[in-house]
Amino acid sequence: MAGATGGYDKRLADLRGVYRDSGAYVSALAAHGERALAYRVEEYRAPSTAAGDLVVGTTRMLPWRIGEEFAVTRGHLHAIADRAEFYQCLSGTGVMLLETLDGESHAVPLSAGQSVYVPGHWIHRSVNVGDAPFVVLFCYPADAGQDYTIIERAQGMAQLVVSDGAGGWALRPNPDHIGYRTKDA
Ligand code: ZN
Repeated sequence: MAGATGGYDKRLADLRGVYRDSGAYVSALAAHGERALAYRVEEYRAPSTAAGDLVVGTTRMLPWRIGEEFAVTRGHLHAIADRAEFYQCLSGTGVMLLETLDGESHAVPLSAGQSVYVPGHWIHRSVNVGDAPFVVLFCYPADAGQDYTIIERAQGMAQLVVSDGAGGWALRPNPDHIGYRTKDA
């Protein structure tokens, strides 16, 4: 991304606990190594985090399968939860998985040229359901921030995006998920 001010790589080893099938995760680490790339984020950040500034960037996700699950980003709720985000798919095939704290779920399919508006208060995660890199452009308010622990505290998102066994994807309820609103959180 020309003019990027930063970014980061998420390697397979950084995603410990993200995938439900821990056996498959350990096998993937053993087969591909801790340095294996899961996804790369490149971004342009305005010099300030004023509410009117924006962060724009791209996420390029490689097509992993960990057990039945397709490759996912960690996923987050914005630290200032009412901040929205816009995503547009540049290439590949994916799904934007959206969930509310009250247990509503949506999975929005995305292929090149398609976009999704993620309203405030929705937890969101990108999923690569294809065999090629899934690349999205994102844009969100510079003061939004990210809460990456909310999914971990709930023992995963409510829905898993899994192979349907026929070359496509399906949603399956995650039996480990304990809800986002836990009394002791
Ligand atoms: Zn976001």
